[in-house]
Amino acid sequence: MLVRSDNLTKHFHLSKNQTLHAVDGISLEISQNETLGLVGESGSGKSTLGKTLVGLLGRTSGEVYFNEEPLPKAFSAEDHLRYSKQMQMIFQDPYSSLNPRMTILDIIGEGLYIQGAHNKDQIRELVSSWLVKVGLEPDHMSRYPHEFSGGQRQRIGIARAMIIEPSFVVCDEPISALDVSVQAQVVNLLDELKQSLGLTLLFIAHDLSMVRYVSDRMAVMYLGSLVECGPANEVFFDPKHPYTELLIESNPEPDPKLERSRQFEPIQGEITSPVNIQPGCRFADRCPKVMDQCRSVTPHLIAVDTNRTVACHLYS
Ligand code: SF4
Repeated sequence: MLVRSDNLTKHFHLSKNQTLHAVDGISLEISQNETLGLVGESGSGKSTLGKTLVGLLGRTSGEVYFNEEPLPKAFSAEDHLRYSKQMQMIFQDPYSSLNPRMTILDIIGEGLYIQGAHNKDQIRELVSSWLVKVGLEPDHMSRYPHEFSGGQRQRIGIARAMIIEPSFVVCDEPISALDVSVQAQVVNLLDELKQSLGLTLLFIAHDLSMVRYVSDRMAVMYLGSLVECGPANEVFFDPKHPYTELLIESNPEPDPKLERSRQFEPIQGEITSPVNIQPGCRFADRCPKVMDQCRSVTPHLIAVDTNRTVACHLYS
């Protein structure tokens, strides 16, 4: 197992009586060379989970293991230096994640410099080769981020993360801010790099069809907790949890003609506030199959099939 979390929790204390439960007791495993897709609505805690796994955010409780080595609860500057060689993150917004005052050479080469590489010719050579690997030109290295399109900037973000040669990369909504026509190119690039570099990925996204396409397994998150996990195709084509079912039904068809004629029941209401969460199923207020016990007893993830886990009283 390359990455493992055990009862991982990240809370933000907003005031004396208010605690935001961003991530609440998540246990998951990601094997070497596997892509785990993580889906859920905005506000479900997906990005916080990703940042906590790679140490960009300290955790409140629980454990995270990398290669079976326990990671510190909050990273020191030394820990960041040590673990950033192995774990990297690609961010959602290619517009704001690149420093507009730095050249592409400095942006992509910065990680190498921080890791102790000071030979400017070698850094330049590596940056040049990574620009080519991500489908850009070596002479792009003297330009600035504003000179590139959204898709090109995301390629720069990918090169910046990959040049360190990490083994685990969290891709946090890497295609959400891109035009539909560019999304597939970026996803294919990530997949090619995964195969050629033997990477392990946590792929966070809204688009369930895309997540199914790139992932080996899929995990569904709702209000800080995992509600379902299993092989990506099985979860997509045979969802067990009522939330997963509704999420998949409301996922738009890629073909606009089919999408216009499609009939589906949208998920009712908004995701509940993650502040001061009460016992019971977190999805109870929106669930069409809610039962009395759902309001008071918290369902936990249980195995319902080989490799399938679900947190719902329908299966307990
Ligand atoms: Fe719906 Fe109850 Fe299952 Fe929650 S536990 S998803 S409310 S049926």
